[in-house]
Amino acid sequence: MKILAILSAALYASSAVAFSVILDTGHTEKHYGAVSPFNKTEFSYNQAMVTTLQRHILARKLDVELVPNTQPDLTLQQRMLYGNKTDLFVSIHHDSFPPELNAQRENLSGFSVFVSQKNPNYPQSLNCARAVATRLIQAGERRSRYHESDIEGERKTLLDERGVYRYDELAVLKNARSPAILIEIGVIANPSEAKRLERTAVKEQIAKAISLGIADCIKTH
Ligand SMILES: [Zn+2]
Repeated sequence: MKILAILSAALYASSAVAFSVILDTGHTEKHYGAVSPFNKTEFSYNQAMVTTLQRHILARKLDVELVPNTQPDLTLQQRMLYGNKTDLFVSIHHDSFPPELNAQRENLSGFSVFVSQKNPNYPQSLNCARAVATRLIQAGERRSRYHESDIEGERKTLLDERGVYRYDELAVLKNARSPAILIEIGVIANPSEAKRLERTAVKEQIAKAISLGIADCIKTH
């Protein structure tokens, strides 16, 4: 009888598997991505946001794992393997802009959430992207306005006024087997935004909004 109770408890536990999220830091120490006007690397911004976000997601009782970010030469292929064994793959980045827009740099700011229509779970990816963007707007963040500009490297399709863009060829999004989104938290090539995004209170507020968005999109899975 006792064994039966233990067995059924174990069965119950295994059926109540928590929704799992994988967080990707996007870059490594060696391949650090964009650089702020104060010489801070995108990698350091991404790392700080991933750590903050991890804490907020855990507080919502979801499983969260990180793509290792201490490996200097993690290839895109290795990074993408993590997108195959989760309920949601979230890649965190911080943005820059093409040199043509440098004269306007003080006006280029805001977040963007990208999805790829080539991802096998595109509808779920889009749901999660919309949920995250909605929570970011509610938290007072603004969406970026230049990814739809008619310049080389941009021309992304705006799918949702709240800041969701389609970027079909983004490798981590199109090759992940799970639903996947990529969030550009803000534009660190803009000096005032680079400073703002270093503030702990701002990071906490953004991470909280993203975790709420993830929790919202789970309900639609
Ligand atoms: Zn990046």
